[in-house]
Amino acid sequence: MQNPPAHPTCRLAALVTLLLLSAMTPPAHAAASAAPPPKKAPAPAKPNQHVLHYVTINKRRYLYLREIAAFYGFHYQYHRMDKNVTLTSPQKEKIVFTFQSQLFTIKGITASLSYPVQRYRDDLMLETTDFQEFLDPIVRTAIIPRRTIRSVMIDPGHGGTDQGATAAKGKVEEKALNLQIATRIGNLLRQRGYIVHYTRTKDTAVTLPARSAAAAKLKPDLFISVHCNSHADPKINGIELFIANPAGVPSYGTTTIGKDCPSVKFNTTNALWAFLMQSSLINATKATDRGVKRKQFAVVRETPTPAMLIEFGFLSNAAERKKLQDAKYQAKLAAAVADGVDSIAKLLQPPSKAPPARGTPAARAPARRPPGNIPLPPKPPASPASRKP
Ligand SMILES: [Zn+2]
Repeated sequence: MQNPPAHPTCRLAALVTLLLLSAMTPPAHAAASAAPPPKKAPAPAKPNQHVLHYVTINKRRYLYLREIAAFYGFHYQYHRMDKNVTLTSPQKEKIVFTFQSQLFTIKGITASLSYPVQRYRDDLMLETTDFQEFLDPIVRTAIIPRRTIRSVMIDPGHGGTDQGATAAKGKVEEKALNLQIATRIGNLLRQRGYIVHYTRTKDTAVTLPARSAAAAKLKPDLFISVHCNSHADPKINGIELFIANPAGVPSYGTTTIGKDCPSVKFNTTNALWAFLMQSSLINATKATDRGVKRKQFAVVRETPTPAMLIEFGFLSNAAERKKLQDAKYQAKLAAAVADGVDSIAKLLQPPSKAPPARGTPAARAPARRPPGNIPLPPKPPASPASRKP
């Protein structure tokens, strides 16, 4: 067990003003640090009504998971024997945190926090940036700025003299598989009405800065870097997905602190999109879920748009390598990615600009997602051609 913090604080302070929330607060106007400040000051919360307090542990601010559960209107259960906490939504969707672990699961999908969950007295605690930039945008999608998603840039990793990972005595090269999978994704997205750009369409070398520069120039609405993985242990397999970590917190698996960079403007969008994408991939393939991770890889860090890097599987694992080479499996991966793009496009769709006719239900009560509703991974559309641009 950790030593108790030297100078714990538990007070209503500046942060709490930021997090002064009640169940009635419109989602778009609450807590998110990355969201623009509300135009009007929110109505003052009633005392003790879902206020989030923090304590300082190892110089970081941590929030009580018990209070986060109350804030969302979720059921809170602390399993002392297993050292974990389960937050359960009214729709019975679960989020599980474990003491001293950076891994948590949300609706069965694994994701990695910047800081391990801590204990304070008889409570498990979540670090504030992990709450604001990771958990909260997944749970309360309404805090994410709306935007229309029309174009996607696909970035097949490696190429030319850079083969990427290799396997089967050099006969299988990552660069070729990346291009095959990327082309399938691009074709499918075009069929569904998106504008698709590529950083390469041939077996050519493209530098990392050139990839980000292409994104800066063409300004796609989303950026997806396509890779396959490799590991010294041939048993390791599964899909993992990277988005940039926020500035000021460590990159996954390192002590390197994230920089302020073009990607950090999209932390909340990236968090939700990564969750939806990983859900889509794992549900479609039943591959091992290696989780959503946050690391400032160059292409996701320097790309001025929501960006992710997907590792579709391990070439070092014979069974997974065989699948990655299989046209049907590649098509399955591509469909899952296209569904992951569709789902974020749908969630972020701005409200229609045409005002609804007076007196219609839409005019009286604008639709708003209630807090505490974890988005379900979308079902694939009935017909790919039916998607509007
Ligand atoms: Zn690679």
